[in-house]
Amino acid sequence: MITRLCLALVCAFFGLASLSGEAEARASFGGSGGASASRACLTSSARALLGRIESRFGAVQIVSTCRPGARIRGTGKRSKHASGEAIDFHAPRGKKAEIVRWLIANHRSGGTMTYPGMNHIHVDVGYRFVSLAGKRMRG
Ligand SMILES: [Zn+2]
Repeated sequence: MITRLCLALVCAFFGLASLSGEAEARASFGGSGGASASRACLTSSARALLGRIESRFGAVQIVSTCRPGARIRGTGKRSKHASGEAIDFHAPRGKKAEIVRWLIANHRSGGTMTYPGMNHIHVDVGYRFVSLAGKRMRG
């Protein structure tokens, strides 16, 4: 009964959203106040990281940068998106895996994260970690 009432797309969306470590999908769809895909709100080190990626791989499509008040779901901790220290972006066509590999090898001053069922890459500045499709790797 319930499955019949539930549109396939809606189910897929909530299924994916609940899998992600951060409230990524919800924040970009939910219109949380002041959310931005602007680069101007980023800290200088976050902008520098983006610059390193783009100088190597070409322009990326920003999905989301600053989200005032954003919290990491399930922990209540402040998200790096709240402080302009995180970027979600789409890699140029066909370059996602290459960029992720490069980040793992070279981005030592922050996080690299991808999500099951979602195509964007999350990077942030701070402590180093790698989490790919929901699986944490040794930093
Ligand atoms: Zn993110």
